[in-house]
Amino acid sequence: MHKLAQLDHAHVWHPFTQMRDWLRREPIVITSGRGAVLRDVHGREYLDANSSIWTNLHGHNHPKLNAALKRQLGKIAHSSALGFANEPASLLAEKLVQLANAESRGASSAVTPHFSKVFFSDDGSTAMEVALKLAYEFTRRTRGPKSKPRFLSLTGAYHGDTVGAVSLGHIDLFHKAYGGLLFKTDQVMSPYCYRCPFNRAKPERTDARETRKCNWECVGKVEAKCATARKRGNDYAAFVFEPLMQGAAGMIPQPAGWLKRVTDIARGHGALLVADEVMTGFGRTGIGDYRLPIADLPRVPRSPRQSEIGNRKSEILFASHAEGVAPDFLALAKGLTGGYLPMAATLTTQAVFDAFLGEYEQFKTFFHGHSFTGNQLGAAAGLASLDLLAGAASVKARARLEGDLRRELKSLWSLPNVGDVRQVGLAAGVELVRNWRTREPFALAERAGIRVCEAMARRGVLTRPIGSVVVLMPPYCTTAAQVRRMVGALHEAVEEVLGARTPMSAAR
Ligand SMILES: *Cc1c(COP(=O)(O)O)cnc(C)c1O
Repeated sequence: MHKLAQLDHAHVWHPFTQMRDWLRREPIVITSGRGAVLRDVHGREYLDANSSIWTNLHGHNHPKLNAALKRQLGKIAHSSALGFANEPASLLAEKLVQLANAESRGASSAVTPHFSKVFFSDDGSTAMEVALKLAYEFTRRTRGPKSKPRFLSLTGAYHGDTVGAVSLGHIDLFHKAYGGLLFKTDQVMSPYCYRCPFNRAKPERTDARETRKCNWECVGKVEAKCATARKRGNDYAAFVFEPLMQGAAGMIPQPAGWLKRVTDIARGHGALLVADEVMTGFGRTGIGDYRLPIADLPRVPRSPRQSEIGNRKSEILFASHAEGVAPDFLALAKGLTGGYLPMAATLTTQAVFDAFLGEYEQFKTFFHGHSFTGNQLGAAAGLASLDLLAGAASVKARARLEGDLRRELKSLWSLPNVGDVRQVGLAAGVELVRNWRTREPFALAERAGIRVCEAMARRGVLTRPIGSVVVLMPPYCTTAAQVRRMVGALHEAVEEVLGARTPMSAAR
């Protein structure tokens, strides 16, 4: 075993990992990367099929990002936001506010709140903690100090691992153990068409959203929850959601129109809207065909014509805007620095900001912050990443990649162990089942997703499953040939691992 792998085994405790399994085999030790390719200590190369856990946008070792970081390093790496402003953080805040406002214009209703302030932090969880605390305190200050702000989030929600973010989450496997540490939040049905009890359609070899037969019962559930809260005399303080697609919940996409309807309902009941775009932000959900109802989307996706792309002043960068939803809080992290550094941002409105203004001795200050708030290196990377995203080359590459991915994923429908293939822009989840005709799931203990991903790794393609859902989320620079290899490896891995119907005991 390589020396570094030995050291890892000796001392490093990995996130979300059963370390007994981890210690059974030599870990892949990554030493370098370029574009969508990662390289290990033995010189083996792998495709980064989940963008290093959904963070990377433009590929590894990108010359423009590297140059921006070197320029910033030549000046200073970090100075504190406690007491001081700095150049890249000021510039980045301006850019984020512009982008988050510009794109919701025209798409939204008259009540559009506009972002004007950015609170920086370090990762997705902390961005959500900030939104949570601000929404809580804003509600107490506007409804009165006796009010008991309560939050509504979606079934299966994942908003991070800090205690506040975990309280908003509803994944028992991750969250149950910490029940005693958490505050109570309500959950409401998320629109998981593939396994929806209200969907009367039989399974077909197509994304379940396209064939669903229902009466939008999931929207009715949100309405009912809000009405019940109102009856209790305690409207929700905020409705918290991932727009267009829930990530860690299992790559669960929303049918077109769902988000707009439920956010209108929640807002109608006085709730603030908290959009967690930690995964969906910065173009991940595509350049913006989502205003069309799914039925109107072309079956065989055309790649947008050159002229169409060239003429587009600002394509959709944030998923909420695809549905014309203007939230009060926007949490950003993973892709904010192009996947280079841990940095996060929580955008909010002037109204929220103003509620924290007062004379010093009124103590209305937002008493919250982190040592690395507004980190200069991170902000410099963020600025460079936004520059790249705005470039015509990036828009074109993303449009092409979305089409490539859609085309390649079609091949998976021929596998009987593939139940659902769901793609939103440049993110996709493939749900593995025992039998596609019955949607019979694998038991978690069978580790179907893990085993398939291990078989993919042996073929040089790296990703992680969520239960029985395999995630494909390629960096934006991924070539057509690389997409083909990613999906091809998944295809072969499913056949190898599940095709022979290996008994559980033999599979270990
Ligand atoms: C990853 C993720 C988080 C947590 O972000 P961290 O940077 O891991 O703390 C929160 N929300 C969503 C939607 C995420 O995908």
